Amino acid sequence: MKPRFILISLTSCTGCISTLMSLDIFPQFLERTRIIYFPFISDAKDIKECEIALVEGCVSEETQIILLRKVRRHAKKVFALGTCACFGGILSLSNSKIAEPLSNYIEVDGIIPGCPPPSKLFGNSVIRLVENKDITLSEKNMCANCPIWEKMEINFQINITKINPNPEEISLNEENSECFLKKGILCLGPITRDGCEHKCIKMGLPCEGCMGPVSKDFTSNVINFLSLIELSQELKDYTGIFYRFSKPKMKR
Ligand code: SF4
Ligand code: SF4
Repeated sequence: MKPRFILISLTSCTGCISTLMSLDIFPQFLERTRIIYFPFISDAKDIKECEIALVEGCVSEETQIILLRKVRRHAKKVFALGTCACFGGILSLSNSKIAEPLSNYIEVDGIIPGCPPPSKLFGNSVIRLVENKDITLSEKNMCANCPIWEKMEINFQINITKINPNPEEISLNEENSECFLKKGILCLGPITRDGCEHKCIKMGLPCEGCMGPVSKDFTSNVINFLSLIELSQELKDYTGIFYRFSKPKMKR
């Protein structure tokens, strides 16, 4: 029997679902599953029993909590799709909006992180779900397989003064690059989960942490990491470092 799927979006840019629909495996995904509810491509109005629910976006409104709990009641397994659903996501930068991960409200059976999730990881994960297998994520950090790791030479005494290189300094050839931390540019690779194939780093930009933490809460990891390095006063005041993809979980 084909596994039944529900795909829904909460507060999102729809980048994760759009990425899913652009994957090579998407036609195969449609062929091998029974879609119960997927407002992007189907008129079906009712959320019914299913094997798997993929939920994109963060929780930022009361009505979404009701919807989410309804999905949880009807799905055998629920997976958080993308950084917004996994950790809160980019809306965490807002001072006025709430951006909470699904796990603050329901039990989540697994996550597919990334903003949006990287194609290879995304495609493999979706096919594994179709085949009733678990999703496997790397347990290493970004530095472990970084193309410029060999030149890292950890020196936490270097003063970090920038969050991005100047445009004229961006080098596309990682062979000629050196670790961003060594150049005084903040790279969150040491505390970020591997799995994105270092796309930003290969494009000459440091890791901002969209894959989320290898362990523990994202913000506490950032705070621990930043306490080890020398940060310029300007960066110390820049809250975007801490809340770019998540806020600490509030006690209720
Ligand atoms: S994780 Fe990124 S791509 Fe996906 S919905 Fe959120 S902001 Fe958009
Ligand atoms: S800090 Fe960044 S650039 Fe340096 S090795 Fe780690 S991931 Fe690569």
